Amino acid sequence: VDAAVREDMERFTETFKGIKERFRLINRIGEGTFSTVYKAEDLEYDHYDNSWDLEEKENTKWSTPPLKKRKTDMQGLADLDEYAQQRRRPKYVAIKKIYVTSSPSRIYNELELLKDITARPCDAVCPLITAFRHTDQVVAVLPYFRHTDFRDYFRNMTVPDMQIYFRSLFKALAAIHGAKIPIIHRDIKPTNFLYEPDKQRGVLVDFGLAEREGTDSKPCLCRKSIPERRHRVQNSVAATMGPSNGYPKNDSRPSRRANRAGTRGFRAPEVLFKCTEQTTKIDIWSAGVMLLTILSKRFPFFNSADDVEAMIEIATIFGLRRMKMCAYMHGAVFESNIPTIGNAGFTLEKIILWSTCRNDSGKDGAEVPLTDEEKMAVRFLERCFELDPNKRISAEEALQHEFLREEVY
Ligand code: ADP
Ligand code: MG
Repeated sequence: VDAAVREDMERFTETFKGIKERFRLINRIGEGTFSTVYKAEDLEYDHYDNSWDLEEKENTKWSTPPLKKRKTDMQGLADLDEYAQQRRRPKYVAIKKIYVTSSPSRIYNELELLKDITARPCDAVCPLITAFRHTDQVVAVLPYFRHTDFRDYFRNMTVPDMQIYFRSLFKALAAIHGAKIPIIHRDIKPTNFLYEPDKQRGVLVDFGLAEREGTDSKPCLCRKSIPERRHRVQNSVAATMGPSNGYPKNDSRPSRRANRAGTRGFRAPEVLFKCTEQTTKIDIWSAGVMLLTILSKRFPFFNSADDVEAMIEIATIFGLRRMKMCAYMHGAVFESNIPTIGNAGFTLEKIILWSTCRNDSGKDGAEVPLTDEEKMAVRFLERCFELDPNKRISAEEALQHEFLREEVY
């Protein structure tokens, strides 16, 4: 462990009252926009229960029995720790130190969602062990999951490897989307899905941007029936003004506000078009971007600086015609005179062949077509990339798709 990290860990354990009596910090494993994560040993782990640390002294599996005591709302972090006392505890934990600059409501939201998820355990979703606060600093304690950096394995994944990887990711999504009030993760991307290729096990982490479906949403055209949508669009200001060149000068339309939280390149088109009634389907799109990344062996696949560039990237692939329709359904207008955006776009198959240099302009001048199993992956990808969120596959349906379905012999 390098000196700067050691110093940072010492500063943290010295200032956070009570932490060093209970945890021995081992290393710093993550440093993001919203938190710093440390690997630590829980000094009060269950010595009597050695199911945690089999050969490798690592948690091979962490599952939580349902909580004995259930409460509808979180009555404080002390309560949470009380629940933790009732469960078996792993030896190695990840301590997530949430930056004090995060708003209390944001921190509360993350812990509340994690607590709810923990009450209905799923192997593919990281549960919460406990949480502590000292003055303005809050830490969440999670079981530690060994994982490999995505960049070190994604280029080598075979289609069967992808099936295992995405089966696990979609099980996680089905679990959170299937909550009584569905949970939208909002930040599905490789660094938030901890995967260990050797063990073929993955866990979804990071509920820092997650929210319940329906939270501060206002009716959006996309959720209306098609005849009603047509009626509204025909009467809308955008339709009466007609397509304009560039931005209208005296635009009297109210500005639109919508949650745009997430990571560049993984945002669904409805997020870019500021849909005011976003659903769990935004996570399915992001999972699709992960699959496209693996199939095309390019990371990051989309590399835009802002939302408009992101729209251009999507329009280039899916074509102007579909992109305009997509904008329209959220009450927006998409216009472009960029010559590289064609009306019809390209098939995902073509995009993958180009990205992997297997098209006929490759070095041998011959096209190396997709294999049957790659074509199956592409059929699944097309379902994740439906521009209309209502038509896009759900996590539950995805698990029944030929690409993810587990064959029963
Ligand atoms: P942030 O909101 O800062 O992105 P995350 O919850 O995504 O925080 O954690 C940041 C990083 O820390 C992850 O990408 C991962 O590498 C590591 N990490 C988080 N939780 C765990 C865990 N339970 N086990 C092992 N590593 C973890
Ligand atoms: Mg993260």
